[in-house]
Amino acid sequence: MQAAPTHPAAHNRGMTLRLLPGAALFTAVTLTVSAQVPAPANPETLVTAAKRAAGADHAGTFLRICVAPDNLNAGGPRGGGPGPRAVPDRGTWYAKPYKVFDNLYFIGTRIHSAWALTTNAGIIVIDTLFDYAIEPEMIEGLTTLGLDPRDIKYVLISHAHGDHDQGAALLQSRYGAKVVMGAADWDATLQRAASAPGGVPKRDIAVGREGLKLTLGDAVVDIIATPGHTPGTLSYFFPVKDAGRTLIVAYSGGTAFNFPRQAANFAIYRDSQRKMTEVADAAGATVLMSNHTEFDRAYDRARIAQLPRAAGEKHPYETDTATVMRYFEMAGNCAEAQRLLVQ
Ligand SMILES: [Zn+2]
Repeated sequence: MQAAPTHPAAHNRGMTLRLLPGAALFTAVTLTVSAQVPAPANPETLVTAAKRAAGADHAGTFLRICVAPDNLNAGGPRGGGPGPRAVPDRGTWYAKPYKVFDNLYFIGTRIHSAWALTTNAGIIVIDTLFDYAIEPEMIEGLTTLGLDPRDIKYVLISHAHGDHDQGAALLQSRYGAKVVMGAADWDATLQRAASAPGGVPKRDIAVGREGLKLTLGDAVVDIIATPGHTPGTLSYFFPVKDAGRTLIVAYSGGTAFNFPRQAANFAIYRDSQRKMTEVADAAGATVLMSNHTEFDRAYDRARIAQLPRAAGEKHPYETDTATVMRYFEMAGNCAEAQRLLVQ
């Protein structure tokens, strides 16, 4: 606020000095510019800005990536490991399937999300869980909801970690669904041993840095390349209907900082979040989704969506575009704070 009086004064001087020698004009312009340069960002101011952006809406994600973020692959087993794996007690992860929007169904676990986006030409599945959850959550879940797994046409994989991609090979081989993944994550996937949990899908559709608009019937999914969490992470924008009203979903494809702790990697992650902020703004997204329920409260919201609503009461997932943009601003600031710390 202290700089405010300087600005009109400098501006007036600049106008007056148009007829005077260039050196004087330069002084006036310098005054104007210097009054507008913000203090340089540092990790502390970035984390404070991120906390402010997170607010109450995105507190879980802020805690995960801005407060003592780890780079130790703490997010659970990854897809690349061969051989059998212990299946956790079903009581710790099983969730019932739910219709959440007119055309979007939750078929995930309490921890990881998987969604079925229905169209007039078949189903698009978004993310596929660990191998042990595919049959009870996705196949039985779709059937319970009155949907037919044989109608799955596309399987979108946000990134090639086992908690999101182990169902891809089964949906591809059993139902002929086309698997869509970031090009760099296909490269990693195809190097897996055939005995990897869930098997290895065949390469179908590889999305490069330019992204892809995927159309199926009356649905279009805008696929955005958001490298960072993995080199081939993909995020999505797509419309859903809430009692006939169209809302735009922004789906964040990768979150935690469990990649090599190098400044260049944080810069890539940061730039992807900035891109998502811009696209969320342009698309008018008012729903933020993630692939871990801790980041978007999917398990709670899916169940709350089953309750009757009062007239005018919003869907539990609906916020506003500013709130969606604050998610990506927060994530970008958290990444930039880490980039400065490791430089
Ligand atoms: Zn991951």
